[in-house]
Amino acid sequence: MDFELPEELRMLQAQLRKFVDKEVIPIEREACSGADMMPEVRARLSKMTCEMGLWHFAIPTEYGGQGLGMLARAVVWEQMGRTIALPTRKWQIFGPEVSPTLYQLDERQRKHYLVPVIRGEKTDCFAQTEADAGGDPAAMRTTAVRDGDDYVINGSKRFITSADTADFAQVMAKTDSHKGSHGGISAFLVDMRSPGVSIGRKERTMMDDAPCDVAFDNVRVPAWKRIGAEGDGFKVGQTWINQGRVRHGARALGVMERCLELGARYAKQRVTFGKPLSERQAIQWMLVDSYIELQALRMMVYRTAWKHDRGEDIRYDAYMIKMRGDRLSFECADRCMQIHGGAGLTLDLPIEKFWRDQRSMMITEGPEEILKTALARRVFELYG
Ligand SMILES: Cc1cc2nc3c(=O)[nH]c(=O)nc-3n(C[C@H](O)[C@H](O)[C@H](O)COP(=O)(O)OP(=O)(O)OC[C@H]3O[C@@H](n4cnc5c(N)ncnc54)[C@H](O)[C@@H]3O)c2cc1C
Repeated sequence: MDFELPEELRMLQAQLRKFVDKEVIPIEREACSGADMMPEVRARLSKMTCEMGLWHFAIPTEYGGQGLGMLARAVVWEQMGRTIALPTRKWQIFGPEVSPTLYQLDERQRKHYLVPVIRGEKTDCFAQTEADAGGDPAAMRTTAVRDGDDYVINGSKRFITSADTADFAQVMAKTDSHKGSHGGISAFLVDMRSPGVSIGRKERTMMDDAPCDVAFDNVRVPAWKRIGAEGDGFKVGQTWINQGRVRHGARALGVMERCLELGARYAKQRVTFGKPLSERQAIQWMLVDSYIELQALRMMVYRTAWKHDRGEDIRYDAYMIKMRGDRLSFECADRCMQIHGGAGLTLDLPIEKFWRDQRSMMITEGPEEILKTALARRVFELYG
C-alpha cells in the first residue's frame, strides 16, 4: 500500500499552494461581489492558471481539456479551498465549469449543450428541489407528460442556483407518478428562454449563493432533450452529485488546513493572563482535534478519488465524505473562530466566511440526516 501522492501530484500541490499564498489570499476579501468574481480579478487569475497549464484541468482531453483524474482534481480543490477568494460554486478561473452530467449526453445533445458550455458560450443550472420536495425528491410535483415528439413540463422549482443567469437548466420532472425517485423521474435539458419558463423570487442566503424560484407553465421540450432513458433522471443526477460530494470533501480539507494555520499562529502570538494561548491546554486540544480530523478526512477524500479513478463505485464513500467534510470543516472553522475571540468575528479575517459557507454546506446538496438514512441501508447490508 502506498499512501503518498504520486510525485507529479505533490508538485501540483506545491505549485498551487504557492499560487494561493502569493496571488490569491492577499486579495481574497475584495475578489468577489456576491456570488460573482470581479471580472478583472478573474481575468488576472485565469491568465495565471493558463500559464500553470491548468486551464480546463477537469475537462476530458477529447474536448481540449487537461483530463485530470479525480485524485488530481481533489488536490486542486483542496488547495483552492484554503481561500475565500473564489465563489462557493463556479470558480471559473480554471475555465468554464462543466457539470459531469453533461458528459452523459448523447451526440446531438453534446453538440448543443456540452460543447457551448466548455467554450464558455452557455451556462447551466440544476433544477431538482421544489418547495415541498428538497431532501425527498420522490415528493416532487413537477411533471413531464409526453405529447407527440415533445414533453410538456408543468411545475415549479425552488432554490435553483444561477437560474437567473443560466442559458439552460437540467430539470428533474416526474414522468411516472406511480414510481418513486428510481424509475419515476426523468431529466430534461430546458432552455431558460423557452415560452412558459419564468424566474421568480431570488433568495438571499448566508452564503454567497442567491438561488431563485423557477416556474414551468406548459413548457414544450422536444423529446430528444431528455437525458438518458425515461425514468433514469435520478441516476443522471447522482453522477453529478457524487462528484460534487468529493469536491465538498476536498474543499473542506483546504478550509481545515487554513483554519489550523490561522489558529496555531494566532495562539502563539496572543497573550492572555501573562501567557500565550498556545500554552493553554484548552486551546491546544482544539487545534489537536482539528488536526486529527484533517488527517482522517484527507485519507477518506484521497482514497475515494483514487477509487473513482480506478472505475470503482464511490457512491457510499461520497456520502461519507460529504457528511464528514462539511461537518468537520465547520467545526474546525468554529474552533478557529473561538481561538481568535472577537478578532475571529471580524471581516479582516476569512474565518467568518468559512464558518458561514461550511455551515450552509451541511444542508445544501443533501442534509446529513438524509445521507445517513441512505448510508444506513449500506450498513445493514454489510453488517445486519
Ligand atoms: C443556497 C442554496 C442553493 C441551492 N441550490 C440548489 C440548486 O442549484 N438546485 C437544486 O435542485 N437545489 C438547490 N438547493 C436546495 C437544497 O439542495 C435543499 O435545500 C436541500 O436538499 C434540503 O432540502 P429542503 O430545504 O427542502 O429540506 P427538507 O427536505 O425539508 O429537510 C429539512 C430538514 O429536515 C431534516 N430531515 C429531512 N428529511 C429527514 C429524514 N428522512 N430523517 C431525518 N431528518 C430529516 C434535515 O435536517 C433537513 O435539513 C439549494 C439550497 C440552498 C439553500
